Amino acid sequence: MNYILTKSKYIRGLQCERALYLDVYNPKLAYYPPEVLAKFRQGRDFEASFRDRFPQGMNLSKLLGWKMDQYPVLTREKLAQEGEVVLFEAGFIYDDVLVLADVVHKHDDGTIDVYEIKNGTSAKEVFQNDLAVQHYVLSHCLDGLNHFYLLYNDGNDGFVQEDFAQQSVALHATIAETIARFKEVLQGFEPEVSIDEHCDLPYACPYRRYCERKK
Ligand code: SF4
Repeated sequence: MNYILTKSKYIRGLQCERALYLDVYNPKLAYYPPEVLAKFRQGRDFEASFRDRFPQGMNLSKLLGWKMDQYPVLTREKLAQEGEVVLFEAGFIYDDVLVLADVVHKHDDGTIDVYEIKNGTSAKEVFQNDLAVQHYVLSHCLDGLNHFYLLYNDGNDGFVQEDFAQQSVALHATIAETIARFKEVLQGFEPEVSIDEHCDLPYACPYRRYCERKK
């Protein structure tokens, strides 16, 4: 199954279209300092502590590794099974965007709840955008989609849970337009974007060294 964007590339593109372009065509230019890599590790540990609540869960990344095109196939197969199913890193593609959802929980009655886990202490705008693009993709792939939860850190490594299903639906039209624009960007030349405050918001851009050299 083919795709052009992923959820993380979509989020990158919201910060900077040049960074999106580099992420797709020249990701080796990215530089992540040790403190950022340490944050990624903490995020994975926080995510794992929530997944421990679902001992029956199947982690597709352990089965498929980097075979990204196979995630949607296996996800569809597993979710077609009768009864309760819990998948970690379940894959979906719609509108050329691949999303891997942290936790997808299909209940016995066929309704589905999705959880996105973030190790931040508030429902930041970037997290809400992450939820919204996931909801855009998953709602076109799944019947029975019900709750769409953002889980973030209460400050003591516990979880705060908020349902963003309704807010996400309201953003679908904007997301479709943004995806179309990003696809156009990726068909052209590297966008010329200057370094300014946006390079650190919401994240420190990993291409800053490259852009400074080119300046
Ligand atoms: S450093 Fe700034 S201008 Fe360069 S790619 Fe990153 S966000 Fe864009």
